[in-house]
Amino acid sequence: MPYSLSVVVATPAHSGLRAALSYRSESALAPGTLVRVPLGKREVLGVVWEPTEAPMPAGIEERSVIAALDALPPLAVAWRRLVDFAAGYYQRGLGEVALAALPPQLRDLDPVQLARRLKRHKPDGGGAQGAAAPGPALTPQQQAVLAEIAGAHANSGKPYLLFGATGSGKTEVYLQATARALAADPQAQILILVPEINLTPQLLSRFVERFGAGHVVAMHSGLTPPQRLASWLAAHAALARIVLGTRMAVFASMPNLRLIVVDEEHDPSYKQQEGARYSARDLAVLRGRLQAAPVVLGSATPSLESWQASETGRYQRLAMPERVGAGVLPEVRLVDMNLQAKRTLLAPALLDAIAKRVALGEQSLIFLNRRGYAPVLACTACDWKSDCPHCSAFRVFHKVDRTLRCHHCGLGERVPRACPACGNVDIAPVGRGTEQLEEQIAELLGSVNAPGGDGQPRPVRVARIDADTTRTKGSLEAQLAQVHAGNVDVLVGTQMVTKGHDFRRITLVAAVNPDSALYSSDFRAPERLFSLLMQAAGRAGRDAAQAASSQMWVQTWNPHHELFEALRRHDFPAFAAAQLKEREAAGMPPFAFQALVRAEARTQAAAQAWLQAARDGAEGLDPAGQVFIYAPVPMGLQRVANVERAQLLVESASRPALQRFLASWQEVLHGLREPGLIRWAVDVDPLAV
Ligand code: ADP
Ligand code: ZN
Ligand code: ZN
Repeated sequence: MPYSLSVVVATPAHSGLRAALSYRSESALAPGTLVRVPLGKREVLGVVWEPTEAPMPAGIEERSVIAALDALPPLAVAWRRLVDFAAGYYQRGLGEVALAALPPQLRDLDPVQLARRLKRHKPDGGGAQGAAAPGPALTPQQQAVLAEIAGAHANSGKPYLLFGATGSGKTEVYLQATARALAADPQAQILILVPEINLTPQLLSRFVERFGAGHVVAMHSGLTPPQRLASWLAAHAALARIVLGTRMAVFASMPNLRLIVVDEEHDPSYKQQEGARYSARDLAVLRGRLQAAPVVLGSATPSLESWQASETGRYQRLAMPERVGAGVLPEVRLVDMNLQAKRTLLAPALLDAIAKRVALGEQSLIFLNRRGYAPVLACTACDWKSDCPHCSAFRVFHKVDRTLRCHHCGLGERVPRACPACGNVDIAPVGRGTEQLEEQIAELLGSVNAPGGDGQPRPVRVARIDADTTRTKGSLEAQLAQVHAGNVDVLVGTQMVTKGHDFRRITLVAAVNPDSALYSSDFRAPERLFSLLMQAAGRAGRDAAQAASSQMWVQTWNPHHELFEALRRHDFPAFAAAQLKEREAAGMPPFAFQALVRAEARTQAAAQAWLQAARDGAEGLDPAGQVFIYAPVPMGLQRVANVERAQLLVESASRPALQRFLASWQEVLHGLREPGLIRWAVDVDPLAV
């Protein structure tokens, strides 16, 4: 065994083994080669890495590689650097990140099975290479943007921020930029990231229509393991020209990557919330640099991080303010709830406007970010409320199946007949959810004499789309198809329906109760609300013929809030400027950099004790005093499934200083013990603080 190789394997997260391990091999395997190696009593998948000088951890003997999966080309150096960076930046083990980035089924295949799998995916003899179906003639603003991102300076390393109104034709730009990249280089590969799995089928079909099914693969967690492996192999072997997927796809092996698109770049779904808590958007920017591929970040409401980068010139901003086909953005109407009768769910003027749309044969979308019938059930005689016994949250009343369900731990029970505390039979819902909205709208609107009918009034058709109505596979598609076919008059939904969907017949959108974000302790809540409302508004009047009469209604108790003022004018730059000014004054991101350490334990005291020990252990690790560590506090949602949660915020005006500190703190954190502690994790650039 003359060779000693560095191999990364998925060591347990808290084993403290974060670097590559060394294995003996009879042949010199190139870095990037997949291998099967022994680890403890198991045989696991590993990736050969660059040799390191670091000695093996004490007490671990060097063992031998069992097999090399060398039918597969090695993973490219750019892919390995991406993994190196992600592991370092997000404070996780190299092997953990590398292995999580590979399709799970790869772990179970021996070289023979893999060779068989590869044979199945051999190219079918060329195919319709480069023969993309033509798209529509671009509008002048689309042309200008395309000329930039497909132009000579495109891979200067500066990401593009495509700031385009909803319906301005961003997707068409992505399609034609893809066509250009493919025409320029027949081997080129293009990566398209979307925030949500729900949005993949729609975008996938547009790409398939344009480029043919053989050239496009999907990559997201909704695929079966064999599908995921097939997509991955096609991308790795550069057989798939276009990979379209959710955040995980940022790690797809694409040796000939020439263009990356991050659609709806502001979307929080790009941040992974467990394991390595990476931002796929930020990694996409890095990846573009590693592979000299232009990166296009698209949004109508960019994240304030990206917006600020485009203000300072770190990103290049490209604007498409106008909707395609002379369509205008909907008129925004604010309803002052202070002037409505008490406990009004929908203001009479709004209800009236909806009824008029129905009578015209147009559709309305009513949006409320709370599923279930009512968020709380309460006794009218004593102070019993539908608390979850395991969480610091209420159980939500679902009228459809008469249950009380905790949305955090999943506990579900039939609604009690009488108050469990005092026996009173009068227990009542407090507050509203989408179920109630659906019920009341149907009741209030009653029947309509709609165009295309037989002259007889028919009941108004109200449908609801939220996480509860879309549990089974294909149900979301089926319900959306009903909306697209015009079989629905009023669609009620959570934020699930406000994103990305290209509804053609919706002319009125209403937000029923968006105010809570104005009072949130999370400094990003206004940013999120603004983008949500702009996205929602973007669902109205997508058909240019109806755009002029389209409306976005917002019911609010704070009609003069600057957020709503900016919304009324569709003025994202004004909103962003105001927010950034506040953030700068308060020293918050993007003017500061943060990391959170979260601890979960049997008791709140144990969680906080562990964090306090972590804080004490940081003594001396930041000699220049550039990093500030706050005191441990309970998390907003303090207890979930009987687990107590606490967190500690670390902040610095310097990203490198924060990174240096976190790296040196790792060892301290791994060494801390606290009875009752269940787990802990570091979240770099957290989205919710
Ligand atoms: P966005 O992604 O910015 O919301 P889309 O790309 O979905 O916008 O475009 C909105 C609508 O306009 C779509 O139905 C699309 O097919 C259409 N469209 C886009 N560009 C053009 C164009 N140049 N000519 C005609 N129709 C277009
Ligand atoms: Zn009671
Ligand atoms: Zn619960």
